[in-house]
Amino acid sequence: MANIAFIGLGNMGGPMALNLIKAGHEVRVYDLAPAALVAAKAGGASVAETPAAAVEGVEFVVSMLPASQHVEGLYLGGNGLLGAIRPGSLVIDCSTIAPAASRKVAQAAKALGISFIDAPVSGGTAGAAAGTLSFIVGGAAELLERARPLLGAMGKNIFHAGDNGAGQVAKICNNMLLAIHMAGSAEALALGVANGLDPSVLSDIMVKSSGRNWSLELYNPWPGVMDKVPAAHGYAGGFGSALMLKDLGLAAEASAASGSAVPLGELARALYQRHCQSEGALDFSSIVNLYRKKD
Ligand code: NAD
Repeated sequence: MANIAFIGLGNMGGPMALNLIKAGHEVRVYDLAPAALVAAKAGGASVAETPAAAVEGVEFVVSMLPASQHVEGLYLGGNGLLGAIRPGSLVIDCSTIAPAASRKVAQAAKALGISFIDAPVSGGTAGAAAGTLSFIVGGAAELLERARPLLGAMGKNIFHAGDNGAGQVAKICNNMLLAIHMAGSAEALALGVANGLDPSVLSDIMVKSSGRNWSLELYNPWPGVMDKVPAAHGYAGGFGSALMLKDLGLAAEASAASGSAVPLGELARALYQRHCQSEGALDFSSIVNLYRKKD
């Protein structure tokens, strides 16, 4: 069993760290927010006072942070955590960040004899809790194999997208599509309801027709249609709208870098920008509130 430092215990990182512990690994955790450490401690993690104390002597470092600036800040900034990690260790960054930021940290790690892969995830908080996430890995194939026992304890699908940064590119494409079909599903449901349909009946019809998609079928945004989704409890937890807006910004950067046209991605970004002015902290399925007629 491995000695692992886990940094970033939010909606995703918290349950992911618990699954590593359940698989028998020794996990030392760190988060800026003391409240985030409570569940990990109760689940058997040892809590470090600083990031440097978390990584001392470990073979693997896993990070699950909000955005590029947090990952660059942790590994390269002020106290530059890379300097405290033992050469020969493997860093697995599961955050969704800019491919260029990921490659920058990978190169800095390599210069210190530390291996690095990007391994952003798909599957949401339910997948994180159930240990059924999909990992989308960028980095050398042999490093993926080294990471496999850890990734397998937290997820069930492991994809190799290519070299460093490729995991991030694939994840960004996926999330742009997710934003588009979430907004599209919300729009279609609102249209049906405004024209007298029951949202559950309409969802059932579209899930069994050609409008079928993941948002409608497994993460329905209309309150009362499904249990155990953020729409069932006021859009608390889940995948924050502000994080989705961040990912749509990453898609815009990627499209600018490659000269690709992403008109629907731009439209989804404009919708989330508007939505985040008031509801950025709510799960991204709350985009339906932009469409719902207020009572
Ligand atoms: P979150 O905001 O719930 O958690 C982030 C955690 O990181 C917080 O506990 C915060 O205190 C901590 N943190 C920030 N900076 C830190 C630092 N320097 N050192 C230590 N801890 C620090 O976010 P989340 O929903 O867990 O998402 C994390 C990443 O996973 C994001 O990149 C997101 O885009 C991605 N993601 C989220 C979901 C989802 O459904 N929530 C799904 C797939 C991917």
